[in-house]
Parts: sequence; structure tokens; C-alpha cells
Amino acid sequence: MGTSKPQGSLSKRTVWGSLELHIYQDASAVAGALAPDEPVILNRPRAAVRAARFFVERFPGKSLYAVKANPSPELLALLWDAGITHYDVASIAEVRLVRRVLPQATLCFMHPVKTASAIAEAYKVHGVRTFSLDSQEELDKIVAATAGDDGTAATDLSLCVRLRVSSDYSELSLAAKFGIDLADAAPLLQATRQVADCLGICFHVGSQAMTPFAYVQALERVRAAIVDASVTVDIVDVGGGFPSIYPGMEPPPLTDYFTVIHRAAESLPVSYSSELWCEPGRALCAEYNSLLVRVEKRRGDELYINDGAYGALFDAAHVGWRFPVKCLDRTRRSAPAEFAFYGPTCDDADFMKGPFVLPADIGPGDYIEIGMLGAYGAAMRTAFNGFGQAEAIDVADEPMASQYRGDWRDPRVSDNVVRLR
Ligand SMILES: *Cc1c(COP(=O)(O)O)cnc(C)c1O
Repeated sequence: MGTSKPQGSLSKRTVWGSLELHIYQDASAVAGALAPDEPVILNRPRAAVRAARFFVERFPGKSLYAVKANPSPELLALLWDAGITHYDVASIAEVRLVRRVLPQATLCFMHPVKTASAIAEAYKVHGVRTFSLDSQEELDKIVAATAGDDGTAATDLSLCVRLRVSSDYSELSLAAKFGIDLADAAPLLQATRQVADCLGICFHVGSQAMTPFAYVQALERVRAAIVDASVTVDIVDVGGGFPSIYPGMEPPPLTDYFTVIHRAAESLPVSYSSELWCEPGRALCAEYNSLLVRVEKRRGDELYINDGAYGALFDAAHVGWRFPVKCLDRTRRSAPAEFAFYGPTCDDADFMKGPFVLPADIGPGDYIEIGMLGAYGAAMRTAFNGFGQAEAIDVADEPMASQYRGDWRDPRVSDNVVRLR
């Protein structure tokens, strides 16, 4: 099973040595030059920079990069250089990572359930001042963990109360786990106001939100929470969820999202100096990576490839996500056909049903590029069953799809796209 040649037949040295000499044009050039036995992650630095510039220039507020979507240090450095100054981190390991790679960055610890020691280290060692919470216990924990040695409370905290909102308009729900219900929010907002220098309200509409209406609806809930609690709010954080483009999922342009968020946020009863934040993960990095894999075996319409559910294809396996694919062997000219993929590990769960459309005569030895894997793809790799190593190589061509190229047209095909005034 899996690849037959011993590991090391493509040594790190060879790959990195050639990296110094070449920037490969595209996946075909990499496959042609290296004929890799292992999957290869392809980086597209320009695509990441373009996405970051788009958010920095067009989002009507501050954009925090949600690090969990792809914590690659190279990507973090690109985003920083493109103007992303704030980073949404969710674990102490992410705090340490971003602090090490970007010493000047502002870190916001936006996981609503943290350990006391993680809060204390973030505050005292890494200069984190912004935390999210969705319960009184978490508020108490933050206050205790950030107090001085003599017990005096911190006076420089920005605390964001996470509100539960609907995930109905998103492909991946984030509604069940975190967030306080609107009905219970007022006492928590008031208690948080007492101890916070800046009070924020945050939410997450779910990942890959297919319509801007998701944010309008969530911001209506924010309005109700503010009115109920009668508190002064300094930060409104609309979270992540900004979509990318995948087969069968073509969202409206991001500027539509920005326009409705701007309009809805402007009409909230918040202080004049309040700030609008967002926390894009997927939208900033989906286009950054694709994956080069090889077909090791074919059985009917099933292709056994050398990466899978425990590698970069977690969402393809577990959520049935379809990613764009391209056969790199130009001699394969037969009509397109639909295939499913098996990954390299020994269990049946390592299966991606697709369908993935590839030439009907594709076979063992052919290389396939799988696109749009920069978000929750490259970051999800495990070493299960001895697989999971992959070199990363820069390429120069365009990602398989892009919202940022300037020629992206609004499909308006989906029923759930609400037309805007
Ligand atoms: C995962 C996450 C994000 C990023 O979500 P995307 O859908 O990738 O944009 C932002 N904020 C929080 C709190 C998250 O958990």
C-alpha cells in the first residue's frame, strides 16, 4: 500500500537544493523535474499576498488572520508583509508560534475556553491583551489569571463576549459549541464591561458562509444584545466565515459581504470610536496551497493516491468537500469521467468520494494537482500510518480559482443568495 519506493528517494536536500535554483512555474513543472514519490505541497505566495491586500484595503475595519486555518510560518510572514497586523490565535502553542515568527504582531486569544495557565502566559509573557469568552466562569478565569502578583486586576484588557449565532448559511457549522445565547447575554456583557478596558462582541457565522445575509442576521442579534444589556461596546467582531471558491460552491464577491457588514455595523448603537473587526481564516489562505499527488493504483472509478483523509484531504473525506483537480499528464486526452479517491493509509475511512472529474484513461503513475487546499488542508496533515511527510515548493502560476483576480464574476446562481438593495 501507499508508495513503494523507500522514503528518502527524494531527499529534503534535493528538494531544498533545487528550490534555491528554481521557482517552478506550476505543478506540471514540479512533477516533470522531480517525479516525487511523496505528495508535495505547492505554495503560491502571490495569491496569499493578494488576498491579504484585498482585506487590508477593502474590509471596512481591521482584519485579524485566524491562524488555525494555516499556521505555516512562511504564510504568516507573507501576511504580515502584506499588512495584516492582528492574529486570531486559539491555543498557547499558536500564541508562541506567532510571537516567535512575528514579534511585532498583535495577538488576540479568541478561543472562549482556555486554561488559566495559557491565559497567564499569553498575558504576562507574550503581551496578549485581547481575549474572548462566553461564560461568567471564563471571565473570572481571565480576571484571575491576568491579575498582578499583589492581586490587583489588569486594567488593559479587551474582552470580547462571543454570541451564539445561526450557522444556517454556512457549509460548516460553528453554532453548537461556543457562544452565549442572546437570552443570557445581558448579565455577562454587563459583568464584562465592569472589568474590561474595551468591551467587544464577537460571533462566528460558520465557515464558508455562502451569503452575506449570514452576517446581517448575526449583527441584528448583536444589536439586540447591546440594547438588552445597555452597555457601551467598543469592538464589533464579525468573525470568520468568508468563503472561498470550490466546485459547486461559488459565493458572491467578497465586496458584497463587506458592503452589507459595513452598512449593518454602522447602524449599531455603539460608541462613535468603536472598531469593526473580522477574523478571516479560509479566505486569506485557501488559494495559497495546492497539493501534488500521484496515482498509485486504479480500481474501476477509484484512484488510490498518495495523500488522503489523514493528510491534506480531511475535509474531502469527512465533509465530502469537493476540491478542484487537474491531471498533469497531457497525453491523457480522453473524455472526462468521475472518480473517487482512496488515500494511502490502511483503513477504509481514508476515502474521498468526490466526485473528482479527470480524464477517463487516467492511471497509475499519473500526477494530479488538487487545488484550493491552503485552508484546513495543508494544516490538517498527520503522520498516521507513517504517511504525512510532504515538501513545500513555491510555484508561480495562478491558483485554480480566485476571488481576487479581478475577473471573478458574481454567479448569483444559488437560491440562498439574498439580493441586496
Ligand atoms: C476558525 C475560526 C475563524 C476562521 O474561520 P474561517 O471560516 O476560516 O474564516 C475565525 N474566528 C474564530 C473564532 C474561529 O474559530
